[in-house]
Amino acid sequence: MAMTVNLHSIARKIENDRRLDEADGRFLFVCRDVHGIGELADRVRRRRHGDITYYNVNRHFNYSNVCALRCRFCDFYRKRDDASAYESSIDEARQQAELARQAGATEIHIVGGLHPYLPFDYYTDMLRAIRQAYPSLHIKAFTAVEIIHLARISKRPRDLHGVLLDLIDAGLGSLPGGGAEIFDDRVHDEAFKGKVRSGQWFEVHRAAHELGLMSNATILYGHIESPEDRLQHLLMLRAAQDEANRDGLPGRFQTVIPLPFVPGRSALNHLPGPTGLDDLKMLAIGRLLLDNFDHIKAFWIMQSIGLSQLALQFGVDDIDGTVVWYDITKADGRSTTHQELSVSDLRDAIVAAGFVPVERDTLYRRVERDGARWRVESGPSLSAAPPSQVRLG
Ligand code: SF4
Repeated sequence: MAMTVNLHSIARKIENDRRLDEADGRFLFVCRDVHGIGELADRVRRRRHGDITYYNVNRHFNYSNVCALRCRFCDFYRKRDDASAYESSIDEARQQAELARQAGATEIHIVGGLHPYLPFDYYTDMLRAIRQAYPSLHIKAFTAVEIIHLARISKRPRDLHGVLLDLIDAGLGSLPGGGAEIFDDRVHDEAFKGKVRSGQWFEVHRAAHELGLMSNATILYGHIESPEDRLQHLLMLRAAQDEANRDGLPGRFQTVIPLPFVPGRSALNHLPGPTGLDDLKMLAIGRLLLDNFDHIKAFWIMQSIGLSQLALQFGVDDIDGTVVWYDITKADGRSTTHQELSVSDLRDAIVAAGFVPVERDTLYRRVERDGARWRVESGPSLSAAPPSQVRLG
């Protein structure tokens, strides 16, 4: 006889450190007791990380908003002749690295549109320029969708390993998690038809893991997907991580970042986007189902810093970084793309929520910091800039 699934049966599994199955996940998505789900996710989070909350000092660089596609949820893309279209030069990329150096950032996060004309060399030149300007800066760059695009323009569409090796040689340090959206084919065809399907998204991450690159994963929720689509998305991520672990790959997924759909001026802006309760529930379910992912991140740019504080009690252990000039989404319809929190802002927000802030680098190693000077724990000094140039709040 099949066991009845409810929060008590799920709580028993969690107490006994047993994996939740598909039926448990299905129940969680229809369960209206958001606080009950959050309480279970908090238990798992505290078992793994205690009261530590991670953050990093980073800088986002969106090199171009020109894109060959027109995903319906996207408010970022422009066509090349649009007045607000832009393409950054290699010199501008170098300047970004210099600004990161002055601020003592440990990471630069680089993504852009699928530019129809820039050549493959542009991307390797950009990575090299950044690495040369600030060698200790970790370059986390290019979603899986961009990697497929780069493989195509490199004229080696089937040689993902070769393309990734070229990018690694130029300075690539890890992959972000974007471009996953929702893995279901119906949602793909209705909302982002031109993008790669789930199979290719996983192929890129698998190739990266085989080469020893760490990567991350996302889920874009709150648009036209169903609860079942969200569930299957998370289960596919969990299965991929199981495979990476089973095969002893040198790379793996580090964190999942559930991203709420922000309608903005997208073609889906008749939809309201998720509520705060939906955000909290999604983050908590992510923590409960993804038992082989170390971290669950709330991206404060999209979820707001206030909700991210609350999310720390719903399974989240990471609230990303200081983030300057994030161009993809303007939360609350703000027109500026300058979105920054100082280190003390971030730390204060974490402390006020009852947690202990710990700075990490991209690979989740602890960072010891003195102004803009920093080093990873037990490592050599990696960076230095005059303290007068640093904004640490
Ligand atoms: S989501 Fe990415 S691929 Fe789709 S239109 Fe926007 S920038 Fe282009």
